[in-house]
Amino acid sequence: MSGIILCAVFAGGGGGFSPIPSGPSVVSASGDAKVQAAGGPAAKAADAAKDAGRSEGKPPATASLSAAPASSESAGTGRQQTKTIYLTFDDGPSKVTPDVLNILKREKIKATFFVLGEAAKRHPEWINAIYEQGHTIGNHTYDHTYSTLYSGFPAFWSEIKETEETLRLITGQRPRLVRAPGGTAGHFDDTYFYLMKQAGYLVSDWTVDSGDSLRRGVPAADILSASLAGLGEKRVILLLHDGAGHEASAEALPEIIARYRSAGYMFKTMEDEADTVRFKVHPSASYAKRTPPSAAWIAGHIASNAELFADGRPLVLEVGMMQTTLASGEYTVRDGHYAVPLRAAVERLGGCVSWDAASRTARAEWNGRLLTADPAGGAVRITGKGDPGATAVVLREQNGDGAFMRGDTVWIPLRTLLGGMGHPILETVSGREEQRVKAG
Ligand SMILES: [Zn+2]
Repeated sequence: MSGIILCAVFAGGGGGFSPIPSGPSVVSASGDAKVQAAGGPAAKAADAAKDAGRSEGKPPATASLSAAPASSESAGTGRQQTKTIYLTFDDGPSKVTPDVLNILKREKIKATFFVLGEAAKRHPEWINAIYEQGHTIGNHTYDHTYSTLYSGFPAFWSEIKETEETLRLITGQRPRLVRAPGGTAGHFDDTYFYLMKQAGYLVSDWTVDSGDSLRRGVPAADILSASLAGLGEKRVILLLHDGAGHEASAEALPEIIARYRSAGYMFKTMEDEADTVRFKVHPSASYAKRTPPSAAWIAGHIASNAELFADGRPLVLEVGMMQTTLASGEYTVRDGHYAVPLRAAVERLGGCVSWDAASRTARAEWNGRLLTADPAGGAVRITGKGDPGATAVVLREQNGDGAFMRGDTVWIPLRTLLGGMGHPILETVSGREEQRVKAG
């Protein structure tokens, strides 16, 4: 594991070298017809929920005093009567997060945290705490800078992917849930919505704003009263913050919970599309002048991303004493042979990968050998580490053994990687649950 942590630095960030693979799949072209209402963000979101068929329900005959799950739904008339609140916390983790977690633990409630990649990288321990306590983690971009994020989709995308990789290295999970900094209203255009959906993400805004980020130092009493605006709604997605300086939100939290609980609400985390809401696209916003990404960019980045979240057989690599697993979107079959993203595979096996922007080559160090891959020409050169003159192997793309690019990612045939690094493939097994490669 130490190898993974040591290699987690995004050395090649500027060089277009990312650890996220692009596999070869076609994603459904169906757009998202959901949503779209007018009014302020909260009104819009509430309307959106109605548009999506979630009409107001009557309050339950007897208010539940606990966060007990759906059994109360089936009682009585059979009509769905449960009211639901999703507590969501944006901009963390920060030193406010442990306070929020303690309150949630005490109240036996799960919530959803839309975290920043930059904060997660500085405080993986708080991400771990959120994860281990069973809350849901969503992606709130890397550093929340509107001018970058909303300058064009590729900039937004790169922050989503960097945050996703940061979180994957900490928890082993990729978040599908995304919340746009500032909300989508006035920020997202149709391209942003469409491409995020195509890529497999679930973007969600909120229905009630606690107002805790309207200005600095909003008092807890104001946060509480704004948060209670959703009482009576069948479904509330409450926006709160656990970023630095949001102590008052944690202070207001116990009473927010108590009031919704006594009104009969169930507390849920956001798990799938049914839990989300979206604001309407504003055609007048400044983003109208943004240039959408090219078809080539979309093909390289978006088309296969949803596979990362699709069910499919993982590929298990057994290499000497090491074993690691690549998810269904993290490997591909090319010319009848497995190919893998160089960084993802080598780092998980305990090696290090870096990108040399000047020569546009990737360097992988592992098992006492150095592999240099030129994805443009396909050449792969493997030498003994510390003896760069001693060329051991040079392979070229035309043999089907060379490196290649998919989107921003350098890929390499598995046999080139393992064989070149001294672990030739001995056996491949294709099982119902998984595919497995054993190397010596
Ligand atoms: Zn935010």
